[in-house]
Amino acid sequence: MSNNRLSPWESSYREHKVESMSLQEQLDWLQTTILSHDHHSRTPTTFYGSGDPRVAHIARCRCSPAEDTVTIHTARMAVTTYNVSCKTCEKKTPPLASALKAVFAWNLSNNAIEPNYREIPYFALVRFDPLGAKDRLERIIDDIQLRLEISAVKRRLGEGPISRGYDDRLHAYREHAQYALSLVKRELNQYPAANSA
Ligand SMILES: [Zn+2]
Repeated sequence: MSNNRLSPWESSYREHKVESMSLQEQLDWLQTTILSHDHHSRTPTTFYGSGDPRVAHIARCRCSPAEDTVTIHTARMAVTTYNVSCKTCEKKTPPLASALKAVFAWNLSNNAIEPNYREIPYFALVRFDPLGAKDRLERIIDDIQLRLEISAVKRRLGEGPISRGYDDRLHAYREHAQYALSLVKRELNQYPAANSA
């Protein structure tokens, strides 16, 4: 479930004590919710864009803005970890659980030349100002959470994934959306006056 903000479906899930229902009842409740008019009208899109969401663009380092000096490394120990570092100044991220997490941690760090949410190739954000983008991303994240929850309950019921790689892609899209939301919130904090309603 999402970290701090409760989405409408999550609030309703709590109210109806869905967690204490049988798995089949949980699945029925979740599927009724995702097909509801309410959820449908809240969800801006389920087509996020083309490309492989498991990879992401690495922002250049502030030490050498004109060159690609930043690369990703994989360490295969007991658990595989990923970190991103700059060859020139040797600044780096801590080791993280996925390549995406490492890239986004780097891009959001002070070492990176700050990316703009409008350049993210998913969710058609270029058309939205920061407040519009924030709303759009939160709604998309809510929908992805619901889809992942349905998939998790299905798995516990012994049903296979909806398609090969389905969960991986959804997790990756959620990471992109949360990363985009961080960039949007930064922009909102930087220029609060320009974005006040
Ligand atoms: Zn550097």
